[in-house]
Amino acid sequence: MDKKQKKNVGFSIGYFGLMMLLAWVFQVLVYQPMVLRLQEVPYSEFLHKLEAGEIEEVVLSESRLLYTCCGDDEEENSRRHNVVRVDDPDLIERLTQAGVEFSAEEPTGGLISQLGWIIMLLPLALIWYFLFRRMQQGGASVMSIGKSKAREIAGELTGVKFEDVGGLDEVELELREIIDFLKEPQRYTRLGAKLPKGVLLVGPPGTGKTLLARATAGEAGVPFFSISGSDFVEMFVGVGAARVRDLFEQAKAKAPCIVFIDEIDAIGQSRASAMSLGTNDEREQTLNQLLAEMDGFEANNGVVIMAATNRPEVLDRALLRPGRFDRQIQVVLPTDTGRQQILQIHTSKVPLAEDVSLKRLAQITAGFSGADLANIVNEAALLAVRQGRETVSMEDFDLAIERVVAGLQRRMALKPELKRRVAYHEGGHALVAQLLPSTDPVHKVSVIPTSKGALGYTLHMPEEDTYLLSKQELQEQLAVMLGGRVAEWVIFGDRSTGAANDLERVSAIARRMVTEFGMTEALGPVRYASDAGMGYLGSANMMRQDISPETAKTIDIETRRIVEDSEALAERLLKDHRSALDRIAAILLEKEVILGDEIRHIVEQGGAA
Ligand code: ADP
Ligand code: MG
Ligand code: ZN
Repeated sequence: MDKKQKKNVGFSIGYFGLMMLLAWVFQVLVYQPMVLRLQEVPYSEFLHKLEAGEIEEVVLSESRLLYTCCGDDEEENSRRHNVVRVDDPDLIERLTQAGVEFSAEEPTGGLISQLGWIIMLLPLALIWYFLFRRMQQGGASVMSIGKSKAREIAGELTGVKFEDVGGLDEVELELREIIDFLKEPQRYTRLGAKLPKGVLLVGPPGTGKTLLARATAGEAGVPFFSISGSDFVEMFVGVGAARVRDLFEQAKAKAPCIVFIDEIDAIGQSRASAMSLGTNDEREQTLNQLLAEMDGFEANNGVVIMAATNRPEVLDRALLRPGRFDRQIQVVLPTDTGRQQILQIHTSKVPLAEDVSLKRLAQITAGFSGADLANIVNEAALLAVRQGRETVSMEDFDLAIERVVAGLQRRMALKPELKRRVAYHEGGHALVAQLLPSTDPVHKVSVIPTSKGALGYTLHMPEEDTYLLSKQELQEQLAVMLGGRVAEWVIFGDRSTGAANDLERVSAIARRMVTEFGMTEALGPVRYASDAGMGYLGSANMMRQDISPETAKTIDIETRRIVEDSEALAERLLKDHRSALDRIAAILLEKEVILGDEIRHIVEQGGAA
């Protein structure tokens, strides 16, 4: 018998022992008094009635005697009265004398009361069976439901290092500081430096967030406590909160260490937006406990909390406050080179045929996550094994990709022609932004399709907060937003649906310039927007109800003129710098990502390669 079985047997014995005891206590304290003592009558009264001839029938048992009456009182007659027997040797004689019908009862109480026991035991046995099953499945003892499910693995045992994570070099760099802190907390505490308590990894599913957390613990060589948000959702209320308490207690004892809460959105969902029934209270309690624990310990006690989510927008704002998960790290879909690295990692133990080119594989898997790539390698290996081959060929990979793509649909690899168009569109935004010094500089441009459905994006990096914008600056911003569409027009001679989102933002800003900022001669410094639609640039804006149709028409004309002016500006810039545009698009086609510095460099060189 192994340890677990012993525990289970112990549990069963304990369970039944406890139930028997409870049943006995119930029997003695509640059941017997209820049935028997209720209409208990003193022996003297019984004798009195017997002599008065008011007794009809008597049933004798070892310790008691039950009788019914035949007096004047109807109600009295319908009851069985119960008397504790005293040691009275004349009883039989008295009964015979009084001419009462009497009989004796079997001492054990007969079949009925035995059946009663079985009926009582049956539900108990069912409950036992249920608990027992749960115990064996869950592996956790029922007695320890409140204990944290967090598994502790010694840091070295996560065995994962950053070299097992591909394409996330920037993120790894950000995590370095935390690793250094975990390795030598004294160095930081001595100088009074405070590290963020909580690090939130945000990114689409399968990009390696969980892997990264494990690797962080592995690199620092500290224990890794991991628990998934969905584990918290348990059947008993209050258990989730108890788990959180337990988890942090364990962690504090083992500091320095990492506590990792995977899929934190399962508990950290905004209290306002949470709609699901039933688990609501439970989750809220758990969330509150988590917040309390995070506030409760010192920033430098050596416990670093990491969490991961792919839905940061649903998280409760309280979680993101300073002192909690105040550092967010974006884990993005891998780029071309990133994908190549990931393929390298996952094929390191797979014998590859001569013809396999990881570089080519990386090129045709734009938009795939690390998990997708791992999946492809596995599928390809399976295909090779099935056909009894010793190595995995390029054909296996092609088939595997097809399978994974079929399973993903939306992430269809982009056709070359479409990709070219996206490259010019995003390149257009970036180049106009670079050429207009008043606009936010470009940080990064990407033509990797995002999981939200965009085919590419241009990231701007505001240099400073802006409080005031001139008309000139606003028009330049519009030119940047229109740059994508204009580039498509300049290069391909037609327009596509890809600019719908750009146009929406452009129109909203242009309209506000006319109706709220008084930036046109024709309409003057008058506010035409209603007060209801106040918001940041680009938010929906409504018109006042009392403006005349002519004014409304002028507003439309002026709005359009502003947009067209900006469009002309963008077109002039892109035509003048056509070679730079071509160069940027070419780099995007090749590498999928281009950084702001590179764009700056290209513009300075006038587009020369
Ligand atoms: P997430 O937590 O972001 O959903 P995971 O970390 O669970 O993703 O990734 C699932 C699996 O996909 C990992 O176990 C690993 O095999 C693979 N994987 C994902 N991203 C990477 C990456 N950047 N480098 C190497 N492998 C990765
Ligand atoms: Mg995960
Ligand atoms: Zn665009």
